[in-house]
Amino acid sequence: MDQVVVVERKPEDATATTTEPVTPVSHKSAKPNGMKVELSPLASRPKNRIRIFVEGLLQSARREGEPDSKTGEPLPKRLDLSLGDPTALGLAPPAEAEDAVVSAVKDGLMTTKQVHGYQHSCGSPAFREAICEEISPGVSSDSVFVTSGCSQALQFALTALAKEGTNVLVPNPCFPLYNTICEHVGAEARSYSLLPERGWEACLRDLDAKLDDNTCCLLVCNPGNPTSHSYSQDHLCDLLRFAYDKRIPVVADEVYAHMTYDPRADERSTFQWMADVASQQLGRNRPPVLSCSALSKRFLVPGWRCGWLALHDDAGRSLAQAGISNGIAALCQIGMTTNSMAQAAAPLVLRNTPQSYHDSLNETMRKGAAYCLERISKCEGLECPSEPSGAMYMFFRVPEARGHADGEGGDSSDVVFCRDLLSEKNVFTLPGFLFGSPNFVRVVSAAPMAVLEEAWDRIEDFCKGR
Ligand SMILES: *Cc1c(COP(=O)(O)O)cnc(C)c1O
Repeated sequence: MDQVVVVERKPEDATATTTEPVTPVSHKSAKPNGMKVELSPLASRPKNRIRIFVEGLLQSARREGEPDSKTGEPLPKRLDLSLGDPTALGLAPPAEAEDAVVSAVKDGLMTTKQVHGYQHSCGSPAFREAICEEISPGVSSDSVFVTSGCSQALQFALTALAKEGTNVLVPNPCFPLYNTICEHVGAEARSYSLLPERGWEACLRDLDAKLDDNTCCLLVCNPGNPTSHSYSQDHLCDLLRFAYDKRIPVVADEVYAHMTYDPRADERSTFQWMADVASQQLGRNRPPVLSCSALSKRFLVPGWRCGWLALHDDAGRSLAQAGISNGIAALCQIGMTTNSMAQAAAPLVLRNTPQSYHDSLNETMRKGAAYCLERISKCEGLECPSEPSGAMYMFFRVPEARGHADGEGGDSSDVVFCRDLLSEKNVFTLPGFLFGSPNFVRVVSAAPMAVLEEAWDRIEDFCKGR
């Protein structure tokens, strides 16, 4: 292997808590002096399910060093496998990312305006060009919009397509931001099932059953979170064909683009953009694809907030005719988000990061996933229905009712598992209900091996009731 570019930092970082406390907002605030202050529906509708759950859980969690009420044993240091941010676990971005920031700011190659000034609201020309090079040289930079991470790309795509009275077909389980955005725009997030034993592929029959006249788009996440699937070209074709037959556009969450590592090294180990599959395999009979991605996961710089939305129109130019591009441009003008320094550095990151960095990161993910699988097989009751082949998670089943927690307050088995594992062993994981799959648990498998080993020793003990 090339020199190891994924630097493992001290695992202290792994103890960092994931969220700052938020002051609860009361919807009916008292108005002692008759002041006209009222929370609008736009601000009160979106709910971040993960944040709400995590805050509740951490408030009641035992502190490190606190003795167990029964055994008296002090609680060990927290191992946090909850957050989809490997920088919290010690994985580092490519050296080229740091160099890019320094050179953007210091080398004098760019103008003051390029580094510090206002950029075009749709993104700096240089970054938009670099994105086109990255995704597909045939794309015009006019159809690429720079956004604050993949999150805002998804928000803009769904805001442009969905409205009150419409529904968006979203996978189940899924990244819960889709639900939050739909709540915000007043549209229904309508779940279609992914099949756990079949590589988390979409159930096409269920898709068909869920679609109706008010469906405004099909959302597909590939590679997937929380399921770490990576779809074959055939399955992507099935999904695209479905969308074309039903005359709806596809919103593709491709924030884990190229982060695949299928151990069987079949065609699934190569990532393909949905828009490329659409134009290469379906030709004129392709649906429009709105592709959302970012530097966040692949270059391990989620805090930079550098993402993009790329519009790939169909043969009939449906997006153009509906004015979607103008709509997205209008949304971009509201916030003028991604800051100029990150935009100045981003093209250098895209161009200069060597393939060996990505190979090494994918290898870290492959090893992490393989290790988690091996350890799961030794924990009675835990089961992983489909091997991970992309992204950086392990999503596994936990037993329906776990011995000593029986009958507790009606919580699903995943919630009981995560809560007890945190309070007994101080390993922090997320319950599947947050993603729509109760009875599953998600851990981040792209952690340094030392963290994974310690975490799985504790999980194994926990499963054995030790
Ligand atoms: C992390 C993540 C995002 C958000 O990415 P940002 O670029 O940080 O906004 C979107 N979708 C999925 C599936 C993710 O896991």
